[in-house]
Amino acid sequence: MIFSLDALVLSKEKLGEIDLLVELFTPKGKIFCVAKGAQKSYKRFVNLLEEFNFIKAYLRKTSKGKFPILEKADLIFLPEKVREDYKKYILLSFIGEVLSKISFVGLKIEYFLFIKSLIKAVDANKLLTLWKPFFELKILKFCGWTPELYKCIKCGYFIRKMFYFSVEEGGVVCYKCRTIKSEYLEIKVIEILRDLIRMSNEFERLYKIEKELEKRLLIKEKVFKISEKFFKFFLSFELNSLKFLNECSLGG
Ligand SMILES: [Zn+2]
Repeated sequence: MIFSLDALVLSKEKLGEIDLLVELFTPKGKIFCVAKGAQKSYKRFVNLLEEFNFIKAYLRKTSKGKFPILEKADLIFLPEKVREDYKKYILLSFIGEVLSKISFVGLKIEYFLFIKSLIKAVDANKLLTLWKPFFELKILKFCGWTPELYKCIKCGYFIRKMFYFSVEEGGVVCYKCRTIKSEYLEIKVIEILRDLIRMSNEFERLYKIEKELEKRLLIKEKVFKISEKFFKFFLSFELNSLKFLNECSLGG
């Protein structure tokens, strides 16, 4: 039986002498499949299996416990500009690595559509450093780990002015509940974090905030720091691409 799925190519590696093992991110979750003969015969999959390509994958189920076979693939979208722009490429590598390492429980089609429109937006628009915290906060949200940014995690008090942040506790704490480890956050930082969590792939809005933050570097640094800290704490796996991302000043 052959079934078809929209899919983002996350990675591929050699399998034996002639086949490729391809990792796909789909609306149904992540799927590993085998592209028979793809190492040798390029005709069938000419450049289709490059990472970050969106394809229509035609898969054939095999016996239980074995990877499905990728019978055919049609190109849906190819992020062309990303391949010519080193920084964009690094950003997508980061996104790809996270998707590859994370386990989405109860993955919904929304995650897939979000990633698809995000990659399209990154490809089509000017590179913004804010894509990084935006992506991190969105992934946390999909995993059910959105930081609490309104009520004190400890006492439930609805904070209006003095925000402190505790990564370990999972969000803001009030003045009374703060400890030496909690970090003071300006209300502007809180507002931007809330905004990033709330918005969808709105390039214009992100662009506006990025502009605004050009003159407020301290605020920007904090937004990046809090987002990355929280992300790393909850994802708890090493991210190789994060180092490159921060080196090319996309880390804020
Ligand atoms: Zn409190």
